[in-house]
Amino acid sequence: MTKSTLTAISRKPVPDETNTCWSCGAMRAAHFCSSCGKVQPPAPVDYFTFFGLPRKLNVNVPTLEKDFYELSRKLHPDLNARAGSQEQEWSLEQSSLLNDAYRTLRDPIRRTQYLLKLEGVELEEQSKTATEQARARGEVKKQIVPPDLLEEVFELNMQLEELRMNQKTGDDDPALTAEITKHKTALETKHESLLEALQSCWEEWDQLVDRGSSASPAERKPIIAEMVDVLNRRNYVRNLVRDVNAALEN
Ligand SMILES: [Zn+2]
Repeated sequence: MTKSTLTAISRKPVPDETNTCWSCGAMRAAHFCSSCGKVQPPAPVDYFTFFGLPRKLNVNVPTLEKDFYELSRKLHPDLNARAGSQEQEWSLEQSSLLNDAYRTLRDPIRRTQYLLKLEGVELEEQSKTATEQARARGEVKKQIVPPDLLEEVFELNMQLEELRMNQKTGDDDPALTAEITKHKTALETKHESLLEALQSCWEEWDQLVDRGSSASPAERKPIIAEMVDVLNRRNYVRNLVRDVNAALEN
């Protein structure tokens, strides 16, 4: 059984009492009651639910921003200062939840990573575990070079090596610097194109969400795997560009 199906089974249903307003008993939103307007204790909901959004990856960011500012005003602790201390505490907690949710969902990469986390995939954990395992074996973590970059990376590494030697001896080789810069530009283009690749995964994902229960977990798996792969490759390219910049600045 995969981790994501386990998560789906063990996910606790939201208890009934959190669905209704503590003050008037009406159905409440995640943050405040739409009937009486009272701030509510934070409910155990994910960031999508917090904003009343489906778990889709195409998010209308201007609308999200508008909702964020509106909720910020309504949940502002100062506004609830004259209410009871309990309500004020809730509005503080809700405000901080709101900020986290907004920061995560407005950013395409963080949003995707967050959705993957909800699906049971911890990218950061994976990377941390790999680093720790390598360290335990006394090795440097092996970066898996994306196959389509093998040639580029091989050539670039040789040029960087040459650059470092030149820097040691104080030699200047403008042609070499130009070559490296050319590779860097190509990598930056690659970095951009990987965002586009990720966005086409979003389309597939969102279509599955739209289909609701007619979409099976088996159909989600390859899309999740594809998104993980794209994000890993994108991280690899980003780290490489960072290394090139560091080498060129020396
Ligand atoms: Zn109410």
